[in-house]
Amino acid sequence: MSTPLTPAPFRAPGSDGSGRHGYPPAPEPLPVPVMDNHTHLDFPNADVTVDVSAALDIAGSVGVQGAVQVGCDLESSRFTVQAVDQDPRLLGAVAIHPNDAPDYAKRGELEDALAEIEDLASHPRIRAIGETGLDFFRTEGEGLKHQRYSFRRHIDIAKRLGLTLQIHDRDAHDDVVQVLREEGAPERVVFHCFSGDEELARTCNNEGWYMSFAGTVTFKNAANLRAALAIAEPARVLVETDAPFLTPHPFRGRPNASYLIPHTVRTMAELTSTELSGLCAQIAENSVRAYGSWD
Ligand SMILES: [Zn+2]
Ligand SMILES: [Zn+2]
Repeated sequence: MSTPLTPAPFRAPGSDGSGRHGYPPAPEPLPVPVMDNHTHLDFPNADVTVDVSAALDIAGSVGVQGAVQVGCDLESSRFTVQAVDQDPRLLGAVAIHPNDAPDYAKRGELEDALAEIEDLASHPRIRAIGETGLDFFRTEGEGLKHQRYSFRRHIDIAKRLGLTLQIHDRDAHDDVVQVLREEGAPERVVFHCFSGDEELARTCNNEGWYMSFAGTVTFKNAANLRAALAIAEPARVLVETDAPFLTPHPFRGRPNASYLIPHTVRTMAELTSTELSGLCAQIAENSVRAYGSWD
């Protein structure tokens, strides 16, 4: 089904009485533009389907000038290729998500799916293989074997195509690092929705891996994450929404979108005692180093 992409939820955030369940109001624009390096424009929010161009328009109006649209299965990876063709403000990432890989494997479809992912990844605006990795929170037992195998295969595809690897790591820091070391990491690795502590941040600093901070860093109970951000090399820091999930404080629980990233960036600037425009410029520079130019 082609997405009917209605701009309605973005028309006038906050000024339309959209209420507790609607999109939050647009924040004050950032002084220097940044990119959202991980978003899912194809995931609807309850009954709201997102219009790609409208979502990027409002993002642009608050200083979020581009995004990386991320595929999680064949359907959303195909959508991702369509989306990057449709809007030049997007780059893309394609993969079979670690929680979906076991289902593909059990149906005997994983090899074909990986072949199609590799095919889709040849598009010049697909710059990353992801999200892939390990998720010990939602997958268990036999499924983990398939998950590990799929992760290794995605690493191999990223290396052969010279693409960035976008990692989903949930409760699996040590194992993700171990698999990366065993396989040999691609040149550019991003931990999407970085959830590590100081130890993982130190590893990322040493290996030159990117740490992408999401709205979770704004949550009051994120002490480990804040400690990790405090020691993260500035040249390795990225920002993302993982929209429609992980809406930053103070709008936790409401739908997320790229235009809400200023909340996350402002919190990061406060936590690291960095001047806001300097942090934005650094994030933008890091984003281009991680994925190549959006131009
Ligand atoms: Zn993820
Ligand atoms: Zn995601």
